Amino acid sequence: MSQFSSKYDYILAGGGLSGQMMALELQRIASTDARILIIDRDTKAQNDRTWSYWSTDRTLSDQLARKIWSNIYVRKGDFEKTMSIAPYHYATIRGIDFYNFSKEKIKADARFEWIQEEIQSVNAEQGVVKTSAKSYAGELIFKSYFDPKEISIPSENIMVYQQFKGWFVKTEEPIFDDKTVTFMDFTTLEKTHETRFFYVLPFSKTEALVEYTAFAETLLEEAVFDQHLEWYFKEKLPATQFEIEETEFDFIPMTDFPFPDNLSRTGFGRVNKKVVNIGTTAAFVKASTGYCFTRTQEKIRQIGKTLEQRGKVAESDFASPIHYRIFDSAMLDATGRGGVRGDDFFTSLFKKMPIDFLFRFLDEKASLYEIIRTMLSVPNKGKLINSTFRKLLKMSKL
Ligand SMILES: Cc1cc2nc3c(=O)[nH]c(=O)nc-3n(C[C@H](O)[C@H](O)[C@H](O)COP(=O)(O)OP(=O)(O)OC[C@H]3O[C@@H](n4cnc5c(N)ncnc54)[C@H](O)[C@@H]3O)c2cc1C
Repeated sequence: MSQFSSKYDYILAGGGLSGQMMALELQRIASTDARILIIDRDTKAQNDRTWSYWSTDRTLSDQLARKIWSNIYVRKGDFEKTMSIAPYHYATIRGIDFYNFSKEKIKADARFEWIQEEIQSVNAEQGVVKTSAKSYAGELIFKSYFDPKEISIPSENIMVYQQFKGWFVKTEEPIFDDKTVTFMDFTTLEKTHETRFFYVLPFSKTEALVEYTAFAETLLEEAVFDQHLEWYFKEKLPATQFEIEETEFDFIPMTDFPFPDNLSRTGFGRVNKKVVNIGTTAAFVKASTGYCFTRTQEKIRQIGKTLEQRGKVAESDFASPIHYRIFDSAMLDATGRGGVRGDDFFTSLFKKMPIDFLFRFLDEKASLYEIIRTMLSVPNKGKLINSTFRKLLKMSKL
């Protein structure tokens, strides 16, 4: 231990969503004399993102949600549908509210230490995290830090950027239906082969987050998003008198890339004796939708449970079932390169499938038979099936 500044039972390398969820789980399962270190370069004192998710479980959302809705709206051309999503609800949590909740719990627990340092590397053989200031040794390291701009995707994998710009607005007139989330509005200013849509979270009749989202293989200019948002406000909502209180411009990497050692530079897969990758670096972001919040909560609970029962974690304890990984990969391939239009695909699901099935399917809880039935019901199913076979042939890469 002498060569290291300090030794810990657990180190959380990255203290964002998955790091802090893992910290809360360790708080439940770690021994009373455990030493737990969280390292993040940021203080997590800013509202750096807003997470939305659907769920049937009210525990977290009851405490922290900014708003909970029970209806969603979908539109494409002449088709429009407002649906109740019971037994699910759709909720939004501001990042800062989750960070404050979690940091308060951690602060009150003497087993935890939080340091703000830039991580340079994780050594999986020795179980050491090296920062710009020191080296820290840990019995088990949960690694979630990474720079999405550093990902270099091999040609057999697909990377689609889910890019979005959102305006948090306040309008003079009551123009929003505050009971209903606009989940996907494919009414767009210009025709494009990419999947693009508007998304509206109405916090009240006069307050909302209005977002323009694009799934694309290359990053688009911010001006494209502003142009579309201006058009939507003028022509579609419509609203002329409004104030933009905050903006959000970012992207979520949607990929079937398995995030192995070349990204983490740790010389191992996602899990070894000393290091467990969690969060985006362990494919917690669902490749076909970009959603991650509920999956992170569920996968962290699974990791906590097996750690409590067996004292160690294996990748199979929390990896998504193989048929869902193939489906996600085929979906990305088909909508990204294979000629299936995302607007046709998603609208057809909303037209044909009961909403509770759809959410269950996206939550990876539907059976293989149900997946095949769903794939056969969508337009251009030939192209989707084609992509599936291509992925099956490369299965070893998944
Ligand atoms: C703007 C935005 C909105 C999103 N909205 C949704 C949504 O509505 N619903 C949903 O399900 N998903 C959403 N996502 C996707 C996903 O839920 C989030 O990206 C989620 O935060 C991923 O969790 P994570 O722990 O993998 O990464 P993060 O939460 O990003 O945590 C990684 C942490 O590592 C730290 N870090 C990085 N590099 C270093 C370094 N070198 N040294 C030290 N620390 C470092 C960062 O400061 C960060 O705190 C959104 C993503 C973004 C970017």
